[in-house]
Amino acid sequence: MFQTYVSCHLWDLVDEGIDEVLGRLKGEAGADGVSVTVACPRVGLLRPHRGVSPRTFRSEGGLQFQPNKDAYAATRLRPVVAEWLRKTNPLAAVAEGCERLGLSLRGRIVGCHSEALASRHEFVAVKDVFGDLHPAWLCPSNPDVREYLRALVSDLSTSYPFAALEIEAASFPPAGGRNWGRETCADLGPTGEWLLGLCFCESCRQAATGEGIDAAAAARAATVLL
Ligand SMILES: [Zn+2]
Repeated sequence: MFQTYVSCHLWDLVDEGIDEVLGRLKGEAGADGVSVTVACPRVGLLRPHRGVSPRTFRSEGGLQFQPNKDAYAATRLRPVVAEWLRKTNPLAAVAEGCERLGLSLRGRIVGCHSEALASRHEFVAVKDVFGDLHPAWLCPSNPDVREYLRALVSDLSTSYPFAALEIEAASFPPAGGRNWGRETCADLGPTGEWLLGLCFCESCRQAATGEGIDAAAAARAATVLL
């Protein structure tokens, strides 16, 4: 059956009142459900709501809910809760409101793009051929990242009545320097940009070796070319 979801950020729901917004989405917009972001990277957004201050919402990102610590007992990555939540957990109120109104609830997880996790767990950050760490991206080849994402999905699906969880950025960062927050003086061209964007962390080198690739030779060639 065709369904219409409205994509929402939790801070926007809190700003205008969770029940009020959900009521409007159901009654005025005719939505069948809402999709809320439950794990996201750094944000800076204008708040278009009446009477809010400051007008710009800034956050380092992280989890947009209070995690069940037990779900992460075996993971080396520790969950980082977005600082704006403090001790609150508006996701629980959103889930209750959706059930009351007959709205379906989905969660959106931004997987490997996370300044909050990369800065606290450098051992899982994407690493370029020179050994420099990506400030905002976790390597999807790293078993600890995979374990953490599995725990996150398990925590969310156990603790909340989600109809579905959408995972995006369960990948390497896009090629090019944009997401590294650095500029390259020389025009590297598409090949150079691609090589500079490749991850050469220990997990990637190990996976490449397992596929019969000489990772050390590839790294030497990439270094010389760059
Ligand atoms: Zn890697």
